[in-house]
Amino acid sequence: MRAAMERITDYKVIVIGSGPAGCTAALYLSRANLAPLVLEGMQPGGQLTITTDVENYPGFPDGIQGPKLMELMRLQAERFGAVFRALEEVQSVNFRTHPFEITTDQNIYEAYAVIIAAGASAMMIGLPSEKELMGFGVSACATCDGFFFKNKEVVVVGGGDSAMEEATFLTKFATKVTIVHRREELRASKIMQERARSNAKIQFILNSTVEEVIGTKEGGVTALRLRNLVTKEVTNFATGGLFVAIGHTPNTKAYAGQIELDERGYIALPHRHSTATNIQGVFACGDAVDHIYRQAVTAAGSGCQAALDCERWLTHERITERWGLQAGEEERVD
Ligand code: NAP
Repeated sequence: MRAAMERITDYKVIVIGSGPAGCTAALYLSRANLAPLVLEGMQPGGQLTITTDVENYPGFPDGIQGPKLMELMRLQAERFGAVFRALEEVQSVNFRTHPFEITTDQNIYEAYAVIIAAGASAMMIGLPSEKELMGFGVSACATCDGFFFKNKEVVVVGGGDSAMEEATFLTKFATKVTIVHRREELRASKIMQERARSNAKIQFILNSTVEEVIGTKEGGVTALRLRNLVTKEVTNFATGGLFVAIGHTPNTKAYAGQIELDERGYIALPHRHSTATNIQGVFACGDAVDHIYRQAVTAAGSGCQAALDCERWLTHERITERWGLQAGEEERVD
């Protein structure tokens, strides 16, 4: 039988999410003596923990492994008093009451301010066969599963930077990687395209979509049914695996009806130059609000902004006074 939910009221500010945005928000909040709780979610460290080399995060001229970068960010926030709780999934929130309530699968938390940094998740094509064979030859994460495709031929679907990156990474294991993209032009940046195009193990099938994944749970993926959108021709393409790299969707389901979301489901930020949502005391940052830049460094930057906005709001509303913090004091930590 499931234990009764505990109501936890120990925290002033709760950060939801533990990617670059959440960790940076936690770092700034903890240095402001606000000792935040970080609800890390089901993928502690966020999407970078399923990446290998991160070459574009400033300060690491030789690059850094994604999981290592996230471990360092977390340690830095913990050093100043942030508390991290892993593997609790936020199921609902009540922002109509104050302190706000956050219900996870294990506890109910109360907090005076909330920063949502819940990130985004990989999108799937939406085929029944793709769903059925997920984990049995279909994957959305080359860095997690690439190793299992050693000496096989695989397909990557998508035409963006993620698809180029996944395909390039997969050439470490696979004998051949075919990128299947639905248009003639790739969406990926020039540098990522060139990297993929100059890799002898990578080939392209353009103007084509996957209509079905063929295989069994026992034997894995054996082929894909592809449709050429120009000639309308349908062919079976033999392959040992399918990696889907077609973008991401924001992890904002738990907030629908409580805060304003835009038409794509990203959290709306109604004020220019502010991470404040339409609910006073609730702030949002990182990939949950950003469908344009989606970089670790932009997420980290927006996490910093959210923490500063949050501190200022708590001071402005004279909430910090209740904790014996005077205005301005929360911006100083020795
Ligand atoms: P993206 O740029 O949105 O590209 C998604 C790709 O998937 C597009 O080519 C799109 O086709 C295709 N697609 C979408 N839905 C599809 C469907 N249902 N069936 C078939 N194809 C579909 O997403 P992303 O590649 O994940 O990149 C997201 C952001 O992260 C970008 O800003 C990117 O620069 C950044 N990023 C950077 C790096 C890096 O610098 N190392 C690595 C990864 C990602 P269309 O082109 O026809 O729309």
